[in-house]
Order: sequence, then structure tokens, then C-alpha cells
Amino acid sequence: MRRLAGLVFGLFFLSSAYADNKTTLHDFRFWSSPDRTRIVIDVDPGVRFSINQKNSQFTLGIRNAKILKDTYKKLFFTDQRIKKTRIKRDGTTYQFKFKLHGQYQIKSYTLKPNDKYRYNRLVIDLYDQKNQAIKAVKKPAIQQRATKIILIDPGHGGEDPGAIGYKHSKEKRITLSIAKKLAKKINATHGMRAILTRRGDYYVGLTKRIRIAQANKASLFVSIHADAVKSRRAHGASVYTLSERGGSTKFARRLETSQNTSDQFGVKQQSNNKDQYLNKILWDLSRKDRNTQSQKLGVKILEQLKKIGHLHKKIPQKAGFVVLKTPAIPSILVETAFISNPKEEQRLNNNKEQDKIANAIYQGIINFYK
Ligand SMILES: [Zn+2]
Repeated sequence: MRRLAGLVFGLFFLSSAYADNKTTLHDFRFWSSPDRTRIVIDVDPGVRFSINQKNSQFTLGIRNAKILKDTYKKLFFTDQRIKKTRIKRDGTTYQFKFKLHGQYQIKSYTLKPNDKYRYNRLVIDLYDQKNQAIKAVKKPAIQQRATKIILIDPGHGGEDPGAIGYKHSKEKRITLSIAKKLAKKINATHGMRAILTRRGDYYVGLTKRIRIAQANKASLFVSIHADAVKSRRAHGASVYTLSERGGSTKFARRLETSQNTSDQFGVKQQSNNKDQYLNKILWDLSRKDRNTQSQKLGVKILEQLKKIGHLHKKIPQKAGFVVLKTPAIPSILVETAFISNPKEEQRLNNNKEQDKIANAIYQGIINFYK
């Protein structure tokens, strides 16, 4: 959009109780996704910053800042949106000048520390101007109606690592790897087509994952995760389906909380009234049918997972995950194994084991349709 040229996009300094203290910039992280680039800076509380956008450049000004030597190098990141970065320093005021490939819509906000990140975070998102709406992937012309779209949702991603294993493996990498293997098998099957909610290491908001399923008129929604608890002994796979009233057991509730709070990793829940109203209608539409169908799908997948490993729970568990609230689409969440169990962590990182897991889920889906 041309009219944005030269416009000062958002100039604001957050008031600070720490005005005299320097803000240390502890770390820089960049995540590129198909529709945005996310910049995350670990900062001290009370960071004072400004953002100016001019043509295809934006300047991030941070006052009273200190950059650690190790952090400095991480700043020079390039992707399909960021062309080049320069730093201008005036005393303790830093100006980070990002040369861009085009003009983007810039949004910024700060996040508080959580169990994965010990610092406050300054988040800056560069959104593509066009392409904001979620578009359905084109179905093949032949057999449009007969093609079943299977939405595969690799849990977490980008700034949200998911659970972290004993040997520091990240759930987000394992879920993506298994999801890609599953997608390959589905795409090699006549009459089926897989769509992934994410294809790389970036975060997709939970509500967006649902919208992708809806926009593509998905037949099934399968979210892939790896479990974690404090005890290193817990092991095995579980499958969760949606229940009408949220988690039915203490365990399901715990999971539900950890999955739903993922949006503190950057995407603010779009919860305007219109959305809530729409969600409620869609949600009420075919609740019953979906529940029995989800249950059936869960049983079929557990039957297969049982052949390749231990089951943590022998029947599908009920939980009110946000990702599973896909109206009219049978939806399940597979906790493939416990990443918090050192043995299973090893298994989850193994290529052949990942393939076995993907195959079990795949066979479960096939059997569901038989
Ligand atoms: Zn997870």
C-alpha cells in the first residue's frame, strides 16, 4: 500500500520505572514464516523503544541500551523481507536500521517472561500487506469432491519450542519432522491430500491453525505433539479428542493449559466480538457428530500406535484444546511419546522411529475411512 510510504508507523516510548538503568539486549531471534517475519529481542523490563518506517526501511530505536558482544552478531539476519541491517549508535541510544525488500505492516509489543524465556521480550512483526487472509490451497481439478483434505498440524514452532527434552531436543522440531513424513504418505495415497499448518520453524497462532483447516474444508485435523511431565519415567503415546466441557481429568487439564497458553509466544488471540460469535455458531453446529468421529479416529490411531510402542493412555482422552475446536472436522491431538523420558526422547529424534510413528498415524487414518 503506497499511502503508507513515509508514514511514521508507530512512535512510542514506553514509560519506565527503570529510566536510569540500562536495558541490556540479551538476545536477538528472527523467525521467517510465509506471511511474516518476527523479530524477538530479549530485553530488561521497561525497555524504551521507537519504530519508524520510511519507504522500504524501518528503524528501531532503543534508548539507554547495552548490547552484549555475543548478541551483536545475531542481529545481522536476512530473509525474504529483511535485506540488510545497519546499526547506528549515539551514546547509549541505538538505531537498528533494517533495509527491507518491500513495505510491510509493522506491529510491536512486549511480552513478559514465561517458563521458556527468562527475559522480557520485545516482539516486532513484519506482515506482508497482501495475503493477509488465509487462502485455501487449490485442490486438484480432477476429483475435487472426492479428495479428502487431511490437515496436519505440527505443534508449536518458532519462538515457541514446545516441551524440551532431557537432552535439550525441542518438541517443535520433532513434531514438524513427523508431520512432514505423515504428509508424504498421505500425498502418495489416491484420493487424499495433506496440508500442513506450518512448513518451517515459525509460530502459527492456535486460532490460525483452525482457520487454515476451515478455509481448506479439511476432512480431518491431526495435531502432532510430544508429551512432557516432570517425572522422567512417564512414557508412551496418548490421543486427545475434544470434549464439550474441556478437560475431563487432571492430566488433560494440565495439558490443556500448557497448549492453550502457547499464544503468549507472540500471537495475540484475536478475540473480538465478531469472532467469538462466529466461533460459537460454528462450534454448536455439529458438535455431536464430530465428537463421535473424533473418538473413532482416536481409537483407530491408538490401535496402530500400540503396535509400535507403549500406550500411555489406552483410550482417547478428552481435552478442550484450542486447536481441536475445529467445527465439523473430526480432530485429534496425538502425543506421540514423552520427550521428558530420555529413552523416548532418543526415539523421537530417530529418523526410523519418526517414520514408524508417522506410519501408525497414517494407518489409523486409512482405517478410519474403511
Ligand atoms: Zn506440544
